[in-house]
Amino acid sequence: MSSQGILLMVPVLPSGARIAPFIAEIDQSHKYSNFGPLNRRFQDELAAFLETYLCRAARVHVSTVASGTVALELALRARARGERNKVIIPSYTFVATAHAAVNAGLEPHFVDIDEHSLALTPEIAEAAIREGVEAAAVVPVSPFGAPVDVTAWERFEDRTTVPVVLDLAAAATSIRHVGTLPICLSLHSTKMLSLGEGGAVISADADCIDRITRMTSFGFEPHEPVSTLRGGNYRVSEYAAAVGLASIQDLERKSAALAERARQYRLQLQGLKVSLQRGFGVNWLATTMNVFLPPARVEHTLDLFDRHAIQWRRWYGLGCHTHPVFADCSRSDLANTERDANRVIGVPFHELLTAEDIALVCSALREALA
Ligand SMILES: *Cc1c(COP(=O)(O)O)cnc(C)c1O
Repeated sequence: MSSQGILLMVPVLPSGARIAPFIAEIDQSHKYSNFGPLNRRFQDELAAFLETYLCRAARVHVSTVASGTVALELALRARARGERNKVIIPSYTFVATAHAAVNAGLEPHFVDIDEHSLALTPEIAEAAIREGVEAAAVVPVSPFGAPVDVTAWERFEDRTTVPVVLDLAAAATSIRHVGTLPICLSLHSTKMLSLGEGGAVISADADCIDRITRMTSFGFEPHEPVSTLRGGNYRVSEYAAAVGLASIQDLERKSAALAERARQYRLQLQGLKVSLQRGFGVNWLATTMNVFLPPARVEHTLDLFDRHAIQWRRWYGLGCHTHPVFADCSRSDLANTERDANRVIGVPFHELLTAEDIALVCSALREALA
């Protein structure tokens, strides 16, 4: 336990010593940005890592970008239907999803989530379209890194002709299928795989990824500085790519350290009136862990956490629609969001957490829910 109590999150990126060999390559190459060799190698290694997971053999294409939020903005700009301006978004997401929609020139329309998976489903999005929402795009979100049924969203796009952009920002290690839909990842320091700050768009659609890569660099043509697409500067530097290459090397160790802590939690939470996201720590992992508390016990449990100096957080707050800047956006019924956002609580989860820390969190939960 630290002097501030049990910390909620401690990002651990590769040490300077692990990054140093890549920095030495930059010293040699004098390439600091603009699609340098380390950036290309990082894209190739990320693609190879994802290809090992895929059920159907497909070539994965990757474009690194400045952040996960930028990944969403560019994918929306590349794909949204131009004559419309609404984007269907689950209110229950990190607020970046809504900011990205606005920055892409669109207006969020907030919809509900499934109460078990905490995710937007194709059925919920189709109900919003039936209500009359003229959607330029829909952005399903992976809740806290849980796997998303990408194939179901491919069928949704075929049925409705509404383009889908996937916000799998925290789900880099739980992607099971990459098709033609763009998948947006965050490579922020709080995520499984990191450039410090960064993001990526991935897809099996080489043309889409090529367009997005060009948008990150003023929409230039591949071999001459002539702008044929609207874009900007959303590239990543070679220094960031150096961190990313070391982060890929470290991924197996990091996953094992987090899996062990998830295992200890699961064991000690058995028999308590709390549940975890389905499959967490068994089929998939992320850098946050969330518990579903019984609604009537939420306040009491959070009081006890505070008294024991156990940090907690509602990672997605109470939903995007509760942020003042998005309060006047249109929305459908949000009954599940309003109930679950209050009771889904992020608890301490990181690789520096000790067995004693986990025992203290679980004993506080036992006391609160007795
Ligand atoms: C982290 C995250 C983002 C934003 O990524 P940045 O790299 O911080 O811009 C967007 N959506 C979700 C669901 C996230 O978890």
